Amino acid sequence: MSKIFVLGIFVADISFTGSKIPLTGETILGSNYNIGPGGKGCNQAIAISRLGGKVNFFSKIGKDNYGTLALNTLKKNNIETEHIIQDEKLKTGVAGIFVDKSSGKNAINVITGAPSTLTLEDINQKTELIKNSKILLTQLEVPKDVILASLTIAKENNVTTILNPAPASNLSKEFFNKIDYFTPNETEAEFYSGMKIQNESGAKKASRQLINLGIKKVIITLGEKGLVYSDGKDEIYLKANNVKAIDTTGAGDAFNGGLAFALTSKKPIKECLEFANKVASISTTKLGAGDAMPFLKDLH
Ligand code: ADP
Repeated sequence: MSKIFVLGIFVADISFTGSKIPLTGETILGSNYNIGPGGKGCNQAIAISRLGGKVNFFSKIGKDNYGTLALNTLKKNNIETEHIIQDEKLKTGVAGIFVDKSSGKNAINVITGAPSTLTLEDINQKTELIKNSKILLTQLEVPKDVILASLTIAKENNVTTILNPAPASNLSKEFFNKIDYFTPNETEAEFYSGMKIQNESGAKKASRQLINLGIKKVIITLGEKGLVYSDGKDEIYLKANNVKAIDTTGAGDAFNGGLAFALTSKKPIKECLEFANKVASISTTKLGAGDAMPFLKDLH
């Protein structure tokens, strides 16, 4: 089975659900809280594994209670833990999340903790593993030099790369020609393209702008509005699946995991996008991030 290498973080998501997201200085009485696995890298790895993909997740955690949650989560989801560096001097990351009960929308503050100390030496040690992968999938939650090095190793070895450029952050020019698939959400796409996105045609314009930077294929996810794809020639718009969203945390992660998994199947891009779109929509019908990633059987 073709392997997918995921570089990213694990954090414990501590989420608070209430009738609204509190404003600065405001206190509200919420209705529910949950502590569960999160972190874009870990969520994406879980999504791939639950869909039936073989994934190697490379990350760093502390030796604390949340580190134990990380290892248990990975084992439970059939993900190898041998590439997880555990450092007893460091803390496992956490994220504080507010969820608005009526829309499922959220506001998040992530403290990445241990993976912020990942080094070039650490990633170079994974060269063989990356070489033997079909796809490398990463985000912007670990140090940039490590991300760039991972993309470089992948491209030197003909491994397809997916960069989910989140959270939005300035990228140097060297990044762009090493990216096969660039998957910002709407807000991130506005950041990278410098263009305001109000509708499908605005999203298509922004994606062309991003292609001009040297990226091969751009997919802008548009939340409940779906997504736009462009490779500079073909453009595709897909509506989101009509579901009752209760928590959209991790929807983008479900999308990226679904996309990476689908791309290993060599199916046409439209089918891959439809598959990932469905995986993402279904993830919004469950609470949590990692825990909300659907299994293949949930897609029917
Ligand atoms: P992120 O979670 O990174 O902000 P988006 O909000 O763009 O990403 O969502 C990613 C994908 O999740 C969308 O392209 C869509 O497929 C799905 N999705 C998100 N919100 C909804 C929703 N309310 N209803 C159905 N699908 C949704």
